[in-house]
Amino acid sequence: MTMPAPKVEIYDTTLRDGSQQVGLDLTVADKLRVAAALDGLGVDVIEGGWPGSNPKDAEFFERAKKIDFSHALLAAFGATRLPGRKVEDDASLRALLDAETPIVTLVGKSWTLHVDEALRTTRAENIAMVADSVAFMAAAGRRVVFDAEHFFDGYFADRGYALDVLAAAAAAGADTLVLCDTNGGTLPDDVARIVADVTDLSQTAIGVHFHNDAACAVANSVIAVAAGSQHVQGAANGYGERCGNADLFSVIADLELKRGHELLPPGRLTALASTARTIADLANLPFEARQPYVGSSAFATKAGLHASAIARRPDAYSHVDPGTVGNKAQVLVSELAGRSNVVAKAAELGLDLSADPVLAGQVLDQVKEAEHRGYAFEAADASFELLVRKSAGVLPTWFELEGYRVVIERGGPPGGRSTDRSEAIVRLRLGGHEVTDRVVAVGEGVGPVHALDQALRRGLAEAYPELAGIHLVDYKVRILDGRAATSAVTRVMVTSADAAGEWTTVGVSDDIVTASWEALTDGVVFGLLRAGAEPLAEEISEAV
Ligand SMILES: [Zn+2]
Repeated sequence: MTMPAPKVEIYDTTLRDGSQQVGLDLTVADKLRVAAALDGLGVDVIEGGWPGSNPKDAEFFERAKKIDFSHALLAAFGATRLPGRKVEDDASLRALLDAETPIVTLVGKSWTLHVDEALRTTRAENIAMVADSVAFMAAAGRRVVFDAEHFFDGYFADRGYALDVLAAAAAAGADTLVLCDTNGGTLPDDVARIVADVTDLSQTAIGVHFHNDAACAVANSVIAVAAGSQHVQGAANGYGERCGNADLFSVIADLELKRGHELLPPGRLTALASTARTIADLANLPFEARQPYVGSSAFATKAGLHASAIARRPDAYSHVDPGTVGNKAQVLVSELAGRSNVVAKAAELGLDLSADPVLAGQVLDQVKEAEHRGYAFEAADASFELLVRKSAGVLPTWFELEGYRVVIERGGPPGGRSTDRSEAIVRLRLGGHEVTDRVVAVGEGVGPVHALDQALRRGLAEAYPELAGIHLVDYKVRILDGRAATSAVTRVMVTSADAAGEWTTVGVSDDIVTASWEALTDGVVFGLLRAGAEPLAEEISEAV
């Protein structure tokens, strides 16, 4: 009979250590939302911040008192007392108590170099600081987690002293002793050996906290658990200063899916991908497509040769089932695409080409020809779907372009701030070429593309009110052949959105306005398709 894997506590430090990341600045309201997302996922402990160090963190704990978390316990973080002072007189320890969290995490020195050079006190006084502070919190009824800062470097420098610091914290009532790789440079084989050594000696639960400076934070966390650690700290999406903290989401997925640990409440692992994205949105940081398990490319395959095999046996080409972490497999359309790749991609979009090899072949030819001209459909699903629908003759015509004219104007006082203004006139036929309804619309904008977008929307607004709910969220321009300078081919990617989601379209031309127009109109057409807009019917127009 196999024993169930031991319980491992998941301790999130996104709101404290993770927030040290450059460009990550959360308001108190954002911090509360991140905490709610982490609680929804089912982490055991949420470290809310350092109440003694800044008023924002103190306010977080004040507001968090009114929140009932469904699963997670809150921890407040702070340092041990100052050298030569009494715990009762230490304002920062007082602030920790005032946070009224069930868990208090105290950080103390375990590396002689830091005691001698940073703290500039005696090694005995450092141990007394750890013991006094832990005892003070334990006496106040708190569960105390002790973070041994720079533990691995301390272990290498003076194993005996590093272990003495842990023993002092344990004797004073610490409930968990956390070995911190604060500089993030320790490698997995050393971690395995040191964690095994410490867990053998300790009666108290051992935890770990890794930074990613040697690109080993997740590996170190996983191997530390194998070596006996019962508590793992990390941050959402690997946020943290320098190269980040251990990515908690990868650690959770590794341990649950590959080592049989039950870390999250039953059924919650499938919320992993959406939680990762939600927190990236709250942090206002770009979500990394290549992020293991949760990124949009984590299970994306661009392999024409393998596509038919992928469709037959998806498990042969991915290390876990993407559904287990709430992600999904994706087949990318690329130049290498074989027919089966196109069929698989179309199936993903809900279009069945498998029964029609002739049509599949036509679509493939068009994809190849378009990619040769500079189109990229990998990130432009919507343009690909339009191409398939057009080939299959199942794309309604909502409007056709008769022509447009754009005037670009730059003015302003000489030497002063210049003003840019563009005007576009767009001539459209509504409902396609057999329909006589003709619209001429004018748009103004800060640049030619903005003006065209305005004119297009104005021209279509009356016939297709669905457009009101569709807006542009991103516009990217890429010059494909820099050597040809201004005559180079331009690729424009436009991302549009409605209330339910977003989609990306692509346009290519040697003229930037033409490429933009193409991507813009594809974006609008796809939006109308999604919205189920009825094309202006021929008979209605004829009656006009
Ligand atoms: Zn840290």
